[in-house]
Amino acid sequence: MIYSIIHIAYILSTALFIFSLNWMKDPKTARHGVFAGVAAMIIAIVSTALEPGIVNWDWISYAIILGFIVGVPLSKVPLTAVPQRTALSHSFGGLAAGLVGTAKYYLWLSEGPENLTTFRMIAIIAEIILGYLTFTGSLMATGKLQEVKWIPQRPITYKGQNFINLSLLAIAVIGGILLVINPVEYTYIFPVIIILALLFGVLLIIPIGGADMPTVISLLNSYAGLSAVAMGFVLDNKLLVTAGALDGSSGLILSIIMCKAMNRSFTNVLFGAFGQVQSSKTGVETRSAKQETPEGAAQILEQASKVVIVPGYGMAVAQAQYRIRELYDLLTKQGVDVKFAIHPVAGRMPGHMNVLLAEAKIPYEQLVEMDDINSDMPQVDVVIVVGANDVVNPAARSDKTSPIYGMPIIDADKAKMCFAIKRSMNPGFAGIENELYFADHTFMLFGDAKAVIGDLVKQLSGAHAG
Ligand code: NAP
Repeated sequence: MIYSIIHIAYILSTALFIFSLNWMKDPKTARHGVFAGVAAMIIAIVSTALEPGIVNWDWISYAIILGFIVGVPLSKVPLTAVPQRTALSHSFGGLAAGLVGTAKYYLWLSEGPENLTTFRMIAIIAEIILGYLTFTGSLMATGKLQEVKWIPQRPITYKGQNFINLSLLAIAVIGGILLVINPVEYTYIFPVIIILALLFGVLLIIPIGGADMPTVISLLNSYAGLSAVAMGFVLDNKLLVTAGALDGSSGLILSIIMCKAMNRSFTNVLFGAFGQVQSSKTGVETRSAKQETPEGAAQILEQASKVVIVPGYGMAVAQAQYRIRELYDLLTKQGVDVKFAIHPVAGRMPGHMNVLLAEAKIPYEQLVEMDDINSDMPQVDVVIVVGANDVVNPAARSDKTSPIYGMPIIDADKAKMCFAIKRSMNPGFAGIENELYFADHTFMLFGDAKAVIGDLVKQLSGAHAG
């Protein structure tokens, strides 16, 4: 009877996980997705706890308390820190899988080698390699995103790096094969595999630039999912297998979507050392971009009838979304048609801009995807680029030598006039300069995005009151 209830609960939980992922696709149903995911997880934990054979409730209680102590503060991090928070949770998932695999191996070894069947050993080896490399890889990703001092942001590369990294992994896999063949004879290889997997996780991340971390995190997410699948086979738990498979595949799909939006391949993300400072072309520094004051910009905006705002990473850094909401309110009150152009990889995580704009309660209908807004750009009177750089860089369309060549962009350069808000002429994530800033119809509004938009709002509301 109890087993039937547990099986029904597992099916319900799996169905809720699938609905959760499906509802997350659309901002209108995303909240349902969160509730479905939480409900699925609660059902999963309770039904697993009901399973006969859970022997030591003391240890389980300590683990739950520890989980709360770590999890509650993690849930309170600001939105800009969500990528590193996600990476940190993946590292815990990887560590958990690795530890379960290690415990099971030594337990079965002591209980009798007949327990270590070929199938179980394959699952344990897959679990520990994927689990431990996800642990250290995700910790490194967290450190890079959090800009921890002793972990350099820029990719670190050296000759023969890929060969060394792949050799380490190959040695771990060969060790694993030996253990599968004879799990009792080669016990000393087990800790060696763990050390190699931990090391591989660190070395895998070193050559990857800080800003490529979101793609890497979703890839590590899929590794964590796969190690959970292996853990499901080790523990003979079907729910772990299905939930892990959902986790693994969704992580992989997300990485593919991000790579497509950047027009980059997986190998380029993993081994391309993207984000190294590019040496500037000679003569470029002598060029100067035209500047405008918030006062002058406000006057031009007053005359506009169609305005498009392109938010980017700088908006997130400056937390300028609330000021942007005020600007949006003022302009729409004056009859200006204001839209937001959303690039799929603007910012540092998928949906970054959507979430921030939704936080400031900007009507969702005003957010237009890149592919839908580009054909309207020539009719736009003013485009305001707020802390966006790479996603509006025309080099992606025309400069075959550019590292972002081929990446689809928002055609801000095709609008009648462009205001670009940023603090300096410094490059963005790709480390390259942007021709848009030197175009005839582009005017720079230098400063922190929140302050500059605040000034624009002051000017516009002053003029309106007058
Ligand atoms: P970006 O190219 O990184 O440029 C951001 C710009 O914001 C910088 O040039 C910076 O210039 C400016 N900025 C920073 N702080 C600011 C502040 N407080 N006020 C005003 N401006 C500020 O950003 P993006 O155009 O959003 O492009 C995103 C990049 O990340 C793309 O290359 C994309 O491929 C990559 N990426 C995104 C994802 C994702 O999932 N979204 C994943 C992986 C990679 P100043 O320093 O001069 O102010």
